[in-house]
Amino acid sequence: MTLSGLLPDQECPLFSFDNTYARLPQRFHRPAKPAAARAPQLIRFNQALAEELGLDVADVDSARLAQLFGGQVIPVGAEPLAQAYAGHQFGHFNPQLGDGRALLLGEVVDRAGRRHDIQLKGSGPTAFSRNGDGMAALGPVLREYIVSEAFAALGVPATRALAAVATGETVMRETMLPGAVFTRVAASHIRVGTFQFFAAQGDEEAVQMLADHVIDRHYPEARGAESPYLAMLTLVAERQARLIARWLSIGFIHGVMNTDNMAISGETIDFGPCAFLDEYDPRKVFSSIDQRGRYAYANQPGIGQWNIARLAECLLPLLDADEEKALEAANGVLKAFGDVFQAEWLALFAAKLGVTGEGEDDRQLVTDFLELMHQGEADFTLTFRALSKVVGGAAVETLTDLFTVPQPGLSDWLARWHARIDDNRSAPERQAAMEAVNPALIARNHRIEEAIAAAVYGDFSFFHRLVEALANPYAEDPSTADLRVPPRPDERVTRTFCGT
Ligand code: AMP
Ligand code: MG
Repeated sequence: MTLSGLLPDQECPLFSFDNTYARLPQRFHRPAKPAAARAPQLIRFNQALAEELGLDVADVDSARLAQLFGGQVIPVGAEPLAQAYAGHQFGHFNPQLGDGRALLLGEVVDRAGRRHDIQLKGSGPTAFSRNGDGMAALGPVLREYIVSEAFAALGVPATRALAAVATGETVMRETMLPGAVFTRVAASHIRVGTFQFFAAQGDEEAVQMLADHVIDRHYPEARGAESPYLAMLTLVAERQARLIARWLSIGFIHGVMNTDNMAISGETIDFGPCAFLDEYDPRKVFSSIDQRGRYAYANQPGIGQWNIARLAECLLPLLDADEEKALEAANGVLKAFGDVFQAEWLALFAAKLGVTGEGEDDRQLVTDFLELMHQGEADFTLTFRALSKVVGGAAVETLTDLFTVPQPGLSDWLARWHARIDDNRSAPERQAAMEAVNPALIARNHRIEEAIAAAVYGDFSFFHRLVEALANPYAEDPSTADLRVPPRPDERVTRTFCGT
């Protein structure tokens, strides 16, 4: 590295940037510069995603990728900036958050015409760092890489992982830890908290500019509506409701659903203290900072709606000049959130049970099964997978053996279920349909921790193996058998931590 820090990018441009957010007025962002990593080493690069994005990386070696995605070199055309935002954290409003350890390099349009932010996370302090160092430790970077790519394979909307680079620097947390930079790809990084940032200052002009930007970028179908801003709010609410239903269907707990961690695009963002359920427990919380269980598994839909209410408050002046009418419209959106969530949740869980069509008692069938799983301390992922096998003719013990606490009510439930799923499909057809929606492999907490623990000592082999296995979550390849089983008592992870 040079003493002045950043190296110029002299080679062919990798990205064709088109930076629309940078063209918004100055109060939306601050210029930012990555801290040049001392000795960047490429940990992993997502070649498939790079190709989807249309990045020309065929002739770029890993040393160069490490410079680019470690922040040592600013790519040609990038306009690095930190975005301003506010947010409710655990219900308390903070008017000034913003990208404190991240910066937006710029936006690219992929082969399919979709626009994406390319963001570095852990690349040093910005104008919004407050007391933070702007750095990221290796562990949270690997966790975000693993979980966001697992989401992509599960087909659940989420930000993506393009690269992870070790910086060669040390960051100070409870102990000294190796530092890393994560490259995040998102439809955008606009959050509920971005609207709150301007609304809290009474800057209605900026709220409207941001809403127009969001409509152009994410919800062009709202433009032709009678009230485009109401249409946009409705679409955001619907996408969020569907997203949270998807989380519940895979046993996912986000862990820190603050309004600054809710993306307007409807993508899952911020994989901090997140975790997948092992045994099913609707009140489950992993995050060490969520002492009151605000963001417990089953609270997530209610919190999603609460966050949408905060977004609606920001947009009230745009919804209608008459305050009463604006409130009425916003309340309509909140109700729609609940309706969309309920319908989506039922559709997803009915499919997990192999139920087709709509039956009057389907919701009861699902909730009764979940209650049996809860009382029986049954593993969420394996239980639905076992049910798929029972449909295909496997012995019922395949399922009942998963109930740590035996449930006498299970045989009655199975009889009701058999009667309900009786249609003219063959057993193998039913099994295949259920296995296509019930993953065999999720990113289990103890495996993530294992990958991080080895990586801190320089061994990335298990991290790579885990990422590669999670690319096929619906397969039961013998080589991934050990990754599919729940933790032994001594392997259980009871607490997860924020990425800070
Ligand atoms: P998070 O809990 O990850 O959603 O972050 C909440 C806020 O804290 C955001 O404004 C972050 O940019 C900021 N933040 C988190 N970690 C750091 C850090 N190491 N340095 C500076 N700011 C940080
Ligand atoms: Mg965040």
